Amino acid sequence: MPESRSQWDVAIIGAGAAGLMGAIFCARAGLQVLLLDGKEKIGAKILMSGGTRCNVTNQKVTESDFESEELRTVRNILRSFPSDKAVSFFKTLGVELILEPGGKYFPSTHSARTVLKALSDEIYTLGVHLSTGKKITELSKGENDFILRGDGFEFRAKTVLLCSGGLSYPGSGSDGTGYGLALALGHSLISTSPALTPLTSADEDWKSISGVALPVSLSLWLENRKIKTFEGAFLFTHFGFSGPSALNISRYWIRSTKEQPKVTADFLPSIPAEKFKGMLEAEAKSHPSLLLKNYLKTLLPERFILILLRKAGVSEGLNMNQLSRVQRDRLFLNLFSYPLPVSGVLGYAKAEVTAGGIPLAEVDSRTLESKKIPGLFFAGEILDVDGRIGGFNFQWAWSSGVAAAHGIKAKIKRV
Ligand SMILES: Cc1cc2nc3c(=O)[nH]c(=O)nc-3n(C[C@H](O)[C@H](O)[C@H](O)COP(=O)(O)OP(=O)(O)OC[C@H]3O[C@@H](n4cnc5c(N)ncnc54)[C@H](O)[C@@H]3O)c2cc1C
Repeated sequence: MPESRSQWDVAIIGAGAAGLMGAIFCARAGLQVLLLDGKEKIGAKILMSGGTRCNVTNQKVTESDFESEELRTVRNILRSFPSDKAVSFFKTLGVELILEPGGKYFPSTHSARTVLKALSDEIYTLGVHLSTGKKITELSKGENDFILRGDGFEFRAKTVLLCSGGLSYPGSGSDGTGYGLALALGHSLISTSPALTPLTSADEDWKSISGVALPVSLSLWLENRKIKTFEGAFLFTHFGFSGPSALNISRYWIRSTKEQPKVTADFLPSIPAEKFKGMLEAEAKSHPSLLLKNYLKTLLPERFILILLRKAGVSEGLNMNQLSRVQRDRLFLNLFSYPLPVSGVLGYAKAEVTAGGIPLAEVDSRTLESKKIPGLFFAGEILDVDGRIGGFNFQWAWSSGVAAAHGIKAKIKRV
């Protein structure tokens, strides 16, 4: 199909995860599909995802894994194309997914390239017309179609699927221009912020142990109320804190507007404090002259323990039987509810996703068609939906891309 044809059934703006999925399901429904991307090379985020292994989805995905002002719509969309369907979809494309701890699915090749190649091959096989280096800067509705314009080009299409992503990792091509296209057509925007981004800190002690990793449970508190808790890997870095538990809590830290939120860390999430108390007492009885730091070394990384003891005011030369009650209480506070010195976040440049976006209240809860502009559909991160770490954000992209494609197919049939 020549690119210059006067009218496509659907023009898809953005060839990321949601756009590729939307293109495949529209083309499988027999529609003439034009897939546009501002970048010359597509799929940057797929390639960098999951540490270049691409965490494609999760064994269990429900609306409770996401934040949005309309979780009911998120539930509808996820149920219409759940994660087991995503697993079998990728299998039909020749991508075997393997299950890892935490329910995460990765390609058996451990390479994100496998995922991008399978999707790219499929759009080629189906005859989707992919046109890269085509950044859309103007989208308008004519009498019977949409007009898409960019620098020196124009396309016309009966319907449009807008899936241009959010603002995170702008170098990947998702620079927020898609929001402008929707706003110009009368949509509104739920204020955006980075999400799944590392936390920064001014604490030089913690920065000095950059590279040390351990499982941690982080809690965010507002006005002495615990708002959220995330348990998972945690990493000390030269700028502050990273790893899934820190990334997961970042969106709540950023979006807390009432007061400066407090983050506390439980550095021994697998051992309840009461149990640890008994363990410590038993060890002090059986090995009274053992250095406390050597006992803690059996449970935690050594470089971490030395900083922790210093912050608790406990000498590293202390034996197990020399720990006073006051010192033990300080040690417990630092181990189980340490107030983490968070000063900020790294922002969109290092955020895996964008929180906020086009309100789900402004789209049909099953097809994601705009309630303001009939024929305009949305999918993926541009919408007000963001998930936690674990393959949830891609599942949203797959499910919403498929839902929009079904809506577009029904719409074209009616035209
Ligand atoms: C480092 C990193 C790691 C990640 N790892 C995972 C993971 O392992 N598992 C997981 O579930 N999620 C992961 N994510 C999140 C996931 O990548 C995103 O949620 C997902 O890619 C969003 O898909 P999308 O299609 O909505 O948007 P995007 O992937 O951002 O695609 C949008 C596309 O639109 C194009 N575009 C933008 N504006 C225009 C315009 N005006 N005209 C034409 N084209 C335009 C862009 O060039 C881009 O190709 C990760 C993200 C990052 C940054």
